[in-house]
Amino acid sequence: MKKIAIIGAGISGLFIANLFKKKLDYQVAIYEKKNSINLEEGYGIQLSVNSIKLLNEIQFDKLQNNKKFNPDKINFYSVKNSNKICELNISDFNTENCKYTTLKRSSLINFLKKDLEKEIKFDHSISKIEQQDQIVKITFENNEIYEFDYLIISDGVFSKSKSLLSKNQIEPKFNDTLAIRGIIPSSSNMADKKNISLFLGSNFHYVIYPVSSDGDLNFIAVMKYNLSEDEQKDFSLFKDDNFIKKIIEKTPHFNKEFFDSINDLKIYPVFVSHDFFEVNNNNIHLIGDAFFAFPPSFAQGASQSIEGAYELFENIENNTESNFFRNRVNKTKMVNNRSKFNQFVFHLSNPLNIFVRNFFLKRLVKNKKFLEGYLGKIYKN
Ligand SMILES: Cc1cc2nc3c(=O)[nH]c(=O)nc-3n(C[C@H](O)[C@H](O)[C@H](O)COP(=O)(O)OP(=O)(O)OC[C@H]3O[C@@H](n4cnc5c(N)ncnc54)[C@H](O)[C@@H]3O)c2cc1C
Repeated sequence: MKKIAIIGAGISGLFIANLFKKKLDYQVAIYEKKNSINLEEGYGIQLSVNSIKLLNEIQFDKLQNNKKFNPDKINFYSVKNSNKICELNISDFNTENCKYTTLKRSSLINFLKKDLEKEIKFDHSISKIEQQDQIVKITFENNEIYEFDYLIISDGVFSKSKSLLSKNQIEPKFNDTLAIRGIIPSSSNMADKKNISLFLGSNFHYVIYPVSSDGDLNFIAVMKYNLSEDEQKDFSLFKDDNFIKKIIEKTPHFNKEFFDSINDLKIYPVFVSHDFFEVNNNNIHLIGDAFFAFPPSFAQGASQSIEGAYELFENIENNTESNFFRNRVNKTKMVNNRSKFNQFVFHLSNPLNIFVRNFFLKRLVKNKKFLEGYLGKIYKN
């Protein structure tokens, strides 16, 4: 029986725990620093077909249909005048059982944690990692010490485990953007309830998409914004109503009526990875945002977290752990380049550049060869 420790009960940690739990030859423990799982009721997540295929291996297809939504199209609009630019049929990548899916983050987390009640140990924040031959010794802040055959690190973008191992050498960086998110209730008729709406503006874009069949919509905006080093670390700033009001009023073509229709508006700084960290030990691996956090403009963070978790599970099963890092780096670089490119293109300001972008966008969304290379390559695993 191989003993596996997973640090962090987010999407990647919970998914890989489910995969190992199905096998009899592993014993899994998930250590979570909080005293409960963060369900943040409401906020949405988009999952492309690559992750749906893998989630179906743990019966995601059996999740009640009213808890998820399958949009057909991404409609592109201009923030300036709300005119539609073009549309992309995202459902072209769907198969019978694997469809592009949008849902509440809480629905996904509830699904992932439902069979793991005994395995999740709350109030456990890691403080020390020691490597001894094939054994990994972990100490927690409450002074508990345990030994494992494998350590899987999935404690998110600010991974403390990665800081411990890299001696604070590999840290995420502020992406010079703020994320503004909230929920548009089903009673509102401000947006399309059947598709993903993507609005492109100057140094600003936002996305609205349904998160269930009951008509609630997720709102997520990404706005270029400079913060001083002190402001980046000051998390109380992002809870300050005056700061939130100031940011909202700075959004291009600010529309008070529109923002008033959004519930639970929250703002937070977006941090991303710049470097990879390879652990010199085949028994310790990173997955999810701890492995690499992307800019959010390609909506691949959760899908790649799921894909990476699955790859690591397969590698451990087949005793090919040494292949995991290189293969994951290759795919991650492809996704990261597209995420950065999307953000650049979505945020253009100069009218001539916008004209040229829209001209090409209208053609590229219909070009099968381009779509296969740009999206299809990522949606395959
Ligand atoms: C604005 C924005 C929008 C996004 N939208 C999308 C989207 O539409 N689609 C998509 O696919 N992705 C999206 N993402 C990305 C996605 O949310 C993340 O990639 C994904 O949640 C990463 O999962 P994870 O399990 O690696 O980390 P997390 O979900 O961050 O989980 C980490 C867990 O570890 C715990 N933890 C932290 N430190 C410790 C410690 N020291 N000890 C023990 N436990 C610890 C935390 O409490 C948490 O439970 C978005 C990201 C952003 C910023």
